[in-house]
Amino acid sequence: MMNSVTDRVDRKAVRDLDQPNSRHIETITTDSPEQAEIRSLTRSMLDDHAPDEHVARLDESETFDEGFYARLGSAGLVGLGADGKGTDADPRHQVVVLEELGVGHTSMAVCLVVQYMGVRLLSHHGSDEHRERVLSPLVDGRNRVAFALSEAEGGTDIARAMRTKARKDGSDWVLNGRKTWISGAASAEHAIVLARTATATRSAIDGITMFLVPMRAHGVSVRGLDTVGIHGLDTCEVTLDDARVAPCAVLGEVGAGFRQVIGTLNGERLNAAAVALGIARGALRKAVDYAAQREAFDRSIGSFQVLQHSLADGAVKVEAARGLLNRAAEAAHIESLASGAGSGTSETLSAMAKLAASEAATTVTDVGMRVMGGAGYSREYPMQRYFRDARLYTFAPLTDEMLRNFVGERWLDLPRSY
Ligand SMILES: Cc1cc2nc3c(=O)[nH]c(=O)nc-3n(C[C@H](O)[C@H](O)[C@H](O)COP(=O)(O)OP(=O)(O)OC[C@H]3O[C@@H](n4cnc5c(N)ncnc54)[C@H](O)[C@@H]3O)c2cc1C
Repeated sequence: MMNSVTDRVDRKAVRDLDQPNSRHIETITTDSPEQAEIRSLTRSMLDDHAPDEHVARLDESETFDEGFYARLGSAGLVGLGADGKGTDADPRHQVVVLEELGVGHTSMAVCLVVQYMGVRLLSHHGSDEHRERVLSPLVDGRNRVAFALSEAEGGTDIARAMRTKARKDGSDWVLNGRKTWISGAASAEHAIVLARTATATRSAIDGITMFLVPMRAHGVSVRGLDTVGIHGLDTCEVTLDDARVAPCAVLGEVGAGFRQVIGTLNGERLNAAAVALGIARGALRKAVDYAAQREAFDRSIGSFQVLQHSLADGAVKVEAARGLLNRAAEAAHIESLASGAGSGTSETLSAMAKLAASEAATTVTDVGMRVMGGAGYSREYPMQRYFRDARLYTFAPLTDEMLRNFVGERWLDLPRSY
């Protein structure tokens, strides 16, 4: 894949990344040459095909950017090293794409977080048939998957709250239940659905199976939900009403689906952190630019210490989150080479990175709204979009409170708090 990305890279843009402009602290990175190429490619695609006005129109009209998604697919940025035959993508590359999309096209970044999750689950647990029929077109950006775990009764404690069930009928499986808050379900070809197939015995997470459900299967219906942010990607309720699927719809092992998903949640956390970091960076840049040109009392408002300090604190949060994200991605890469799955260190670092990035995003977008005064409240400017979109990663895919629980237990060796 690297060759196809390398071929498209604008060399000058890569050189520019090595020469950061001191006014734009957010461009200082510690990228490897491959990461720098991927960053440059993503940025140039955003510059060419997704300027601010375009993204604002999509947000306003609540429309998914099919054209840009197709471009990302043909540039190799949906697969990113995954070959469609079981080789997974490199987490260090995914976070770079997602950070840049978080800056310029947040809804597309959220869509890619889901697609990267789909690629990972299908690469690790898909049969040859799944890989050929679903994974291959997915890595080329020719189709999309949704990931359907959450239900109305509870997202955090979903294993206990899960009401969706699948039962055997002959050799087929029949699914009944309702999934909620499912990103991109209206336009995906398939959803990876978690359903209970047996009563939990030892642990609530046992007896749950992953199914690859065609969205056009009889008994599957989708209803759009009205949300505060991420308006460029649909968020849906998916109802399964006697939805019948063939035995080959089982993804991985019957009864072990939740454990299989847990094995990939580390990557999702890491990727969520990257999007939040991008949102924080994008909002910081807009706030600094506004503070530099807006005047009050015959001076630029950026010269008032109170605003400067808020922006400086935001910049520190952004760079601290970046540092954690880089360490977490590196650890995830090393662990994936060793064992094929994330383990202790990378999981805790990913939890910390996601916490740091979500705090950077909520802090910086709040500062941005303050710096811009009334203009921040106007839908003509992107700050309110960053402000709304940033909220998602305070609770998804796992809430910040649960990540703190995780850090307390795993890193600080404190008793489990719940
Ligand atoms: C726009 C959007 C897109 C989404 N996309 C998807 C998707 O594609 N697929 C999918 O499956 N889901 C998706 N979700 C769902 C998301 O993952 C859940 O909202 C999230 O897991 C939290 O679950 P919940 O909303 O049910 O909150 P709850 O689980 O009800 O939590 C409510 C509050 O209680 C706190 N809490 C719960 N337990 C504890 C504890 N032990 N200690 C401390 N605090 C605790 C939580 O931290 C939170 O503050 C999406 C949600 C949204 C809004």
